[in-house]
Amino acid sequence: MADLRIGILEGDDIGHEIVPASVRIARAAARAEGLDIDWVEVPIGRRALDTHGHTMPDGTLETLRGLDGWILGPIGHAAYPKVPEAINPHPILRKQFDLFANVRPTRSFPGIGALYDDIDLVIVRENNEGFQPDRNVVAGSGEFRPTEDMTISVRVITREGSQKVVRAALELARARNKRLTLVHKNTVFKLGCGLFVESAYQVAQEYPDVTVDEVIVDTMAMRLVRDPQSFDTIVTTNMFGDILTDEAAGLVGGLGMAPGLCIGRGSVAMAQATHGSAPDIAGQNLANPFAMIESTRMLFDWLGNHHGIAPVLDLSRHMKRGIDAALADPATRTPDIRGTGTQQDMIEGILRGMEAA
Ligand code: ATP
Repeated sequence: MADLRIGILEGDDIGHEIVPASVRIARAAARAEGLDIDWVEVPIGRRALDTHGHTMPDGTLETLRGLDGWILGPIGHAAYPKVPEAINPHPILRKQFDLFANVRPTRSFPGIGALYDDIDLVIVRENNEGFQPDRNVVAGSGEFRPTEDMTISVRVITREGSQKVVRAALELARARNKRLTLVHKNTVFKLGCGLFVESAYQVAQEYPDVTVDEVIVDTMAMRLVRDPQSFDTIVTTNMFGDILTDEAAGLVGGLGMAPGLCIGRGSVAMAQATHGSAPDIAGQNLANPFAMIESTRMLFDWLGNHHGIAPVLDLSRHMKRGIDAALADPATRTPDIRGTGTQQDMIEGILRGMEAA
């Protein structure tokens, strides 16, 4: 029996480039560490609509239920044809597997155009409720239009949802520098953000070793630019997290440098970069594969820790050596991060860096 069973869901556009690259690199690292991984291709997205008649075909969820985790490429659902079979699969995956916490690190690397050279923070974004109308209700949409000239968007904040994501962030903060910042706007959203903050402090009582403070979201937008070094672990509601994680990516070289891992209370996790499917640069050997490859590494790191499998942690360390080596050389970096290379150069650079390690 294989040590791990991992799904490959390419997604759309640049997903067809960066997901196979991530798998290639993880495979090489697994081979080097003597790990046996069963890779399972799972249909999803625009191609699945053509081959299986649906962007989320029957059987996809069942296949995923038998896996330890999976790599989900970016989904370009905005360009899907307007037919009932073409739905955005993200919310379904996150809901079905209760992947309520989206862990998105931001870290500076030298020479790539980061605005500061010493940023190391992580934003934990709530994934399954909040303002996002495609996932904050079980049926219908959290947004509706009673008259032609009026739209109402509903924001859902629950005590349980808030406590779950804050607990995940507290665990992360405990493993890092034991500092957690709650980001909200309870000055205006007295009930919604108020409940988030109240729930957060309830859970925080169980983590007396973690120092918890708060920053109002608009102040946070400013402080992320001016003094990002003053933050370690940040937790926030869905839409604030969506916006702040893109802002944080901008500090360290852009969306190509923004990885992510969706986790829950269960034993599975989903690697998913912060960026979208970037149709404007798809098929041009230009897209920065870092975010997807690093998300994949985070998946193995999480699985290694969660299941207590030391060689899986070795695999993650192996990948990291290759990634660091490629990022250190402009010839093995894509143009968005001050490189002179192509996507393929970067992938080869990572593979060479792993061999040399
Ligand atoms: P979504 O709403 O699905 O997150 P988006 O509208 O934010 O998508 P993206 O697809 O993320 O849009 O692209 C935003 C910009 O960032 C585009 O110009 C795109 O080319 C660029 N971009 C995104 N990902 C990468 C990447 N991996 N490498 C280089 N550039 C990227």
